[in-house]
This record gives sequence, C-alpha cells and structure tokens, in this order.
Amino acid sequence: MNKKEREYYRKKLLEKKQMILIRLNGFYTESKDIETDVAQDPVDKADSSYTKEFLLSLSDAERELLLHIDHALLRLHRDEYGTCQSCQKEIGKKRLEAVPWSSLCIECQEKAEEEAG
Ligand SMILES: [Zn+2]
Repeated sequence: MNKKEREYYRKKLLEKKQMILIRLNGFYTESKDIETDVAQDPVDKADSSYTKEFLLSLSDAERELLLHIDHALLRLHRDEYGTCQSCQKEIGKKRLEAVPWSSLCIECQEKAEEEAG
C-alpha cells in the first residue's frame, strides 16, 4: 500500500470516528441539560459520573466500532494496514472501501464469525 492510499484510508477512518464522537457529544450535551433541570438532590448529582454517562451513551456496536477504528489507525501507523491479522494476506481493496477498519480478510472474517456464532 502506498502513501497516498494509506492517507486515503486514514482520512476515511478519522471521518468515521469523528461522526461517532459528534453524535455522542450531542447526546452528552443534551443529557447534561436534562440533568440540570431535573436534578434536585445535589448528592445524587455528584454521584453521577459524566464519564460513566458518556460510556453508557455509546451502544455496544459504537464502542466496538471506535475500538476497531483506533486499532486500524494504529495498524496504519505501523504499516500493517490492509494485511489480514490472521493469514497475513492482503485484504481486498473493495473490502477496505466498504469496511475500512477491517483487520481480517473476508475468508478469515467468515471463519471467525462461524466460530463465534
Ligand atoms: Zn485472512
């Protein structure tokens, strides 16, 4: 994979990551407003951790996706991006285009899903 391609996928990954974070940020601001209106007991308010709320506001899928994206960015940095983590073959460009954070080629992914399911 050449530098131009790596840059292209890096941008794609960062855009996706930002989309998730912006959506979460919207939720975060909203829930904070609601809390200011509703919360009456200051002890209750102190108890609720914003970090916890932030993580809870992520769905499992989004949490997982963020992890995948971060891993993909790391692999880009290490020049391992686009290589299957299981069989070391090249992940198809078509697959990277559709799922830029994939770490497995389609064959290994299907095998992993079979084993998990
Ligand atoms: Zn593979």
